[in-house]
Amino acid sequence: MKFNTALIFLFSGIILFLSKKNKSEFKSLYKALSYTMIFIGAFTIAEHLGLSFFSIDNIFIPDKLTTTNPGRMSPATAICSILIGVGFLGRISSNKAINKIGLYSFKFTAILSLVAIISYLLLIPLSSKTVFFKSMAIHTSGLFLLISTLQLFNNPNSSFHQILIGDYEGSKLTRKILPVIILFPIFYSFILIFGINQEFISVDFGLVAYAAIFIPLSIIYVSYIAIGLNKSEKERRKLGQELEDSNRYYLKRFKQGVDQVSLIGTLDINRNFTYVNELFCEVFKYGKDEILNQNISILRSGHHEEKFYTDIWKKVDSGEIWVDEMKNKGKDGSFHWTLTAIIPFKNDKGEIFEFMSLSQNITERKTAEESKSDYFKKLEYKNKELEQFAYVASHDLQEPLRTVNNFTELLAKRRTEYFDELGLKSLQYIQDATSRMSELIKNLLDYNRLDKDNILTQIDCNQLVKDVEKDLSMNIDDAEATLIYNNLPTLFGYETPLRLLFQNLINNAIKFRKKDIKPLIEINATLKAGEWLFSIRDNGIGISPKYKDKIFVIFQRLHNKNKYKGSGIGLAHCRKIVDLHQGQIWVDSIDDEGSTFYFTIKIKEHD
Ligand code: ADP
Repeated sequence: MKFNTALIFLFSGIILFLSKKNKSEFKSLYKALSYTMIFIGAFTIAEHLGLSFFSIDNIFIPDKLTTTNPGRMSPATAICSILIGVGFLGRISSNKAINKIGLYSFKFTAILSLVAIISYLLLIPLSSKTVFFKSMAIHTSGLFLLISTLQLFNNPNSSFHQILIGDYEGSKLTRKILPVIILFPIFYSFILIFGINQEFISVDFGLVAYAAIFIPLSIIYVSYIAIGLNKSEKERRKLGQELEDSNRYYLKRFKQGVDQVSLIGTLDINRNFTYVNELFCEVFKYGKDEILNQNISILRSGHHEEKFYTDIWKKVDSGEIWVDEMKNKGKDGSFHWTLTAIIPFKNDKGEIFEFMSLSQNITERKTAEESKSDYFKKLEYKNKELEQFAYVASHDLQEPLRTVNNFTELLAKRRTEYFDELGLKSLQYIQDATSRMSELIKNLLDYNRLDKDNILTQIDCNQLVKDVEKDLSMNIDDAEATLIYNNLPTLFGYETPLRLLFQNLINNAIKFRKKDIKPLIEINATLKAGEWLFSIRDNGIGISPKYKDKIFVIFQRLHNKNKYKGSGIGLAHCRKIVDLHQGQIWVDSIDDEGSTFYFTIKIKEHD
């Protein structure tokens, strides 16, 4: 190998190393080496052409061994070094045309060096060499072939890379055929030339034998490849057909499914119907011929304002999907609520060319919702009316009642002489009844006022119960009752109503005690799922389970008023107070075994 040739490979090696580094400071060295390769190749060619104005052959190291043209590389080597240099420059260029030239340079180098190798192999038996490849050594051509094919292989833009690496049939075929069509002729020609050279066979026989064997073998090989290709093509087509069939099957199923539950229509750019499905016609009572080419506005019910529709199309025309509920009108004047999506479709240029309207009929649900909200409104109104009535009635009743009371009192005090015993007793009854009625009316007014003007405050329940205990101290002392409570929470609530709640429950626990047993009342609280659960347990007379709901109804009592005093409003109050705190109240009790009243208080955000 000539010194300059070795230099070309050294430069190539350095360039390959630099290209891995991918650093900008190496770029100039990369370029300089590539240009030097082109330069050495070009001057060598010039010398071969007799233009010896500048000799490059022995410039670095003088060749003392070769007699003819010492130190000069062969024309083929010189051309390959120019091509490799151009190839390297093309690789890093940002210009696409230069990239391409670079790729072609590598391809050309690969072909030249391959031809040189083949010629070399075939020239061995002939022991003579053609002029062009005269001094391109086998290792030189081998190295050029290696460099150029590697470069082609590494470049994803090169068709060589795509052909050899690809997964397509063409690539597979190339990978199969290429080694055979390169190696077989070389091997076969080598044998024939060797035979001719050694005079085992004549030249004529050699040529005939070449054709006679090469052609049938090629036919057999091509047929073998073709059979394989046909088979895989057949499989591919079969798979394609199966895929198409299954796609068509599922598309059909999807459409059948959607058609049964959705009202579907497509609209052109002017919002005129171009297609509607059966369900659409069924709901809106239009025949297909009647609705096609009609504008979508034909379905307007008059329920929505113009802005509603302007907003829809503003959104859809901007390419977005609009989804909402709308009220539509059918041909027969019937109204239908739908949950509708209007979807714009765009072409390749991004322009909208079609819309689809996809709707669910929600008329039943909407009607139910409408009547529910009507019902709630009515209920609210009735409730207010009832409250007003209770207030007016109780307030206005107080006046005549006071008059009756005053006059009976007057009669009883000043006119006793006019009454016999029965008369006096009757007066007493009237007085009792009127004061009881006055008490009831007062309770009713209190009940009505309970949920008015309350302010949410932080309440320490321990303190609250302590205050109630103080208020009820006379009752507690009389009954020798014991009240146990500890660790009650601090919570946000309405203070006065809560105080009344504890007061009523504690009072009842004392009032409904067993005859010879001192009342023991235990109050506890636990935190459960966002609410406080309070329990007030007593050891009193208990409540039969069948009355556990009845006792919370206003003015409901289980005992005679002579046995246990009271108006029957205490627990109704308690329920209203618990309601006010978004909780629940209930009792757990067995007749004669004491009772436990439970109530919950929802934790407010402040807690
Ligand atoms: P009042 O106490 O004025 O009778 P309430 O509404 O407070 O009215 O109570 C309704 C009824 O529930 C009472 O008449 C009583 O029969 C029953 N009751 C309430 N608390 C208890 C209790 N702790 N033990 C037994 N019975 C009770």
